[in-house]
Amino acid sequence: MAIVVQKYGGSSVADADMIRNVARRISESFNKGNKVVAVVSAMGDTTDDLIELAGRITPNPEPREMDLLLSTGEIVSSTLLAMALHAMGYKAVALSGPQAGISTDSSFSRARITGIEPRRIIKELDKGNIVIVAGFQGLTVDNDIATLGRGGSDTTAVALAASLKASICEIYTDVEGVYTADPRIEPEAVKLDEIGYEEMLEMATSGARVLHHRSVELGQVYNMPILVASSMVKQRGTVIRGGKNMEARNKVRGIAHDMDVAKITVTNVPDRPGIAAAIFLPLAKAGISVDTIVQNASANNITDLTFTVTRNDLVKAMDIIAPVAKEIGARECLSDSKLGKVSIIGTGMQNTPGYAAKMFQTLFEHSINIQLITTSEIRITCIIAEDKVKDAVRALHKAFELNKG
Ligand code: ADP
Ligand code: ASP
Ligand code: MG
Repeated sequence: MAIVVQKYGGSSVADADMIRNVARRISESFNKGNKVVAVVSAMGDTTDDLIELAGRITPNPEPREMDLLLSTGEIVSSTLLAMALHAMGYKAVALSGPQAGISTDSSFSRARITGIEPRRIIKELDKGNIVIVAGFQGLTVDNDIATLGRGGSDTTAVALAASLKASICEIYTDVEGVYTADPRIEPEAVKLDEIGYEEMLEMATSGARVLHHRSVELGQVYNMPILVASSMVKQRGTVIRGGKNMEARNKVRGIAHDMDVAKITVTNVPDRPGIAAAIFLPLAKAGISVDTIVQNASANNITDLTFTVTRNDLVKAMDIIAPVAKEIGARECLSDSKLGKVSIIGTGMQNTPGYAAKMFQTLFEHSINIQLITTSEIRITCIIAEDKVKDAVRALHKAFELNKG
């Protein structure tokens, strides 16, 4: 009997009827003779609501308690889903992340899975149970519950699929697959039948939240194909897997965007060895991840250093950087939290000139000012004003003819 791992996101289990719909979908796979493990996210906006609730108690909740609090969202949805299956006459057990044997490191709110001991899951499957696992959580060596970061249930699902040696990991969500751009912003976006890990990873890390970026990373490491499809309609979705897509040569495959960008500029920084380390080490120690970094060419041994963080981290980052800037003799620390980024992605861009120029020209034609630019081999990203991001996505989608499939 094949083991099938499915994951249902928050918007697919937002209320009782939707939970019953998911239970029906799971039972269909079970009735085909599969052993089914289903990972669920918290219902609807539960995680946001819990974060807001904690914020009403204190502006600085302890990370340990915060993770324990957030993990309850997935406990609620997983238990209700098991109950829905019971009500339909199926045998099912709900397991929390720790009960499912998922271990993580101790980085609360962004923990990484360090290992999975799937004995309990296998025992339950062998007893004929459908196993429902609470996503986005695991147990640290100190027996604390840690969460994997926003969107992390995808990563739970792919990690379980790899550890249970499933043939594919099925991610069911509120769109019909991975599109050439977020279909909620670009109505002309086209669903992709397939996309490689490399391109999907760039899409996900550039803001396409349809998959948690670490789930794609794990998929690539374990060569686990991932299907993204709708939890509501039966439509062929998108498969993410390895291998080269010959058709996609010389093409931009997708546009990704992210509205959650804040910028910090440290001005008049003395240009001498050790300065970058002095600035970025304390940020790393505080667990703040820095995205784009740009250092101006230095004139008179004085330079400006600009970098981006998520909006959530901005205040903390400024608190850390302001004293460091003073210490190293920089002039001031400036910040801007109303930024976003737009990226064009495609392995077809490798070693082919012209893509960057076309991207910049398109943004210029739409009067969109580029503040920072970063690139990888298969991605070009421009940091722009947040209120221009939607226009930029649509303009680039058209310019690179992605609506033509
Ligand atoms: P879930 O609750 O199922 O985890 P998410 O909200 O995390 O769902 O992810 C699905 C959303 O991802 C879609 O509703 C869509 O707005 C967004 N999205 C962003 N980029 C893309 C893309 N390229 N293709 C499909 N969906 C995308
Ligand atoms: N419930 C968590 C979140 O909202 C995890 C997830 O949905 O994957 O981020
Ligand atoms: Mg998600």
